[in-house]
Amino acid sequence: MEHINFLAFAMPAFFLFLFIEFKIAQRKKRPEIFNYESSVSNISIGIAERLINLFVAASFYQAYYFIYNNYRIFDIPANAFVWFALILTTDFVWYWYHRLGHEVNFFWAAHIVHHHSEEFNFTAAARITTFQAIIRTGFWCVLPYIGFHPTMVITMLIVHGAYSFFTHTQLIGKIKWLEYVFVTPSVHGVHHASDEKYLDKNYGDMFTFWDRLFGTFQTEEEKPKYGLTHPLKSYSFLWQHFHYYFEIYELMKRSKGFKAKWKAVFGSPAHMDQDIRPILEKRFLQDKANPNQRLRFKNYLYIQLGISTLLLTVFTYYFEFLNGFDKIFVLSIILITLINCGALLEQRKWIYYLEYARIYMIAVYFLYEEGLMIFFFIPLGVMIFAEQLFSLSKRYQNVVLQLESSE
Ligand SMILES: [Zn+2]
Ligand SMILES: [Zn+2]
Repeated sequence: MEHINFLAFAMPAFFLFLFIEFKIAQRKKRPEIFNYESSVSNISIGIAERLINLFVAASFYQAYYFIYNNYRIFDIPANAFVWFALILTTDFVWYWYHRLGHEVNFFWAAHIVHHHSEEFNFTAAARITTFQAIIRTGFWCVLPYIGFHPTMVITMLIVHGAYSFFTHTQLIGKIKWLEYVFVTPSVHGVHHASDEKYLDKNYGDMFTFWDRLFGTFQTEEEKPKYGLTHPLKSYSFLWQHFHYYFEIYELMKRSKGFKAKWKAVFGSPAHMDQDIRPILEKRFLQDKANPNQRLRFKNYLYIQLGISTLLLTVFTYYFEFLNGFDKIFVLSIILITLINCGALLEQRKWIYYLEYARIYMIAVYFLYEEGLMIFFFIPLGVMIFAEQLFSLSKRYQNVVLQLESSE
């Protein structure tokens, strides 16, 4: 239970640090550090990962114990020296996990999401997906396999994860002497840059000596341009998560012969065919209501993100005590809300139906809780009636999506 509590407090802590960073950026007159759409998108992706993590984290931990109990090579005791060795080993495993995340298409499909952000601030640190957490866990299994006790491993992963949060900021400048040993925000900022000389550099999380050893270290010289070489021009929640998997699939379809197909999945992202993404974007992202309009109701978005965060915090705290139905309900409501936030940023026509689906789900949930499930058709009837009477969809599209002004 202690562990669960800790995770619940991670969310308020994240927003506290984000608030401090935002205030300092304002005071230093550097508003360009934050971009509204990008921050919302980054936070949405972070919320989804924390949410799904609740359902899968236990199996991650079980995997560490299973490997430790059955396959460990050494019996390593717990003492100060071992903790030191564990920090080094963890960062070494991370270096290769991260480097392969950039060098193998299949791993890059998960890791690319972390690099979508063209802003470099604490919100970028939140851009982790569940796919990435699963791949990462695969690499972490090396640690209990060597013989480090799972409780030590889990503690170390929390420390390691917390460290990398603080390296995503532009408010701390270059600290030359510290770079000899530690990854600083400036060093990690270089990793997030798309400038030619900064590409494929600085994979380390805590220490810089792995990068120095394997020739991938680069210190900050010119100010980095953050983001991808081929930026993803979409804030769609689902598209950001899945676009690269579709790209791999399309490349595989185009490839002739086993070797070429193998390379499509496990080859280098540098060889990805750049014609594919625009074709897929045409196929999947063709329904923008009004591409030139920016969102009018920022507060509506803030409220949705705020409620999602609050719900996730409480949900994390009480997760163990909830039944399956409640869990699935909260999971679906938060995920729909996040998809909604992305769609609002992009002014998608279909949000209206998503809004309806969400209201209906909430209504059915309360009916179920009261044992009145047989009346499931009543909210549906009321909604259809209201739609007919007040043409709500037209109002929604004109007010929220501003369709009228574009005509
Ligand atoms: Zn990376
Ligand atoms: Zn990063």
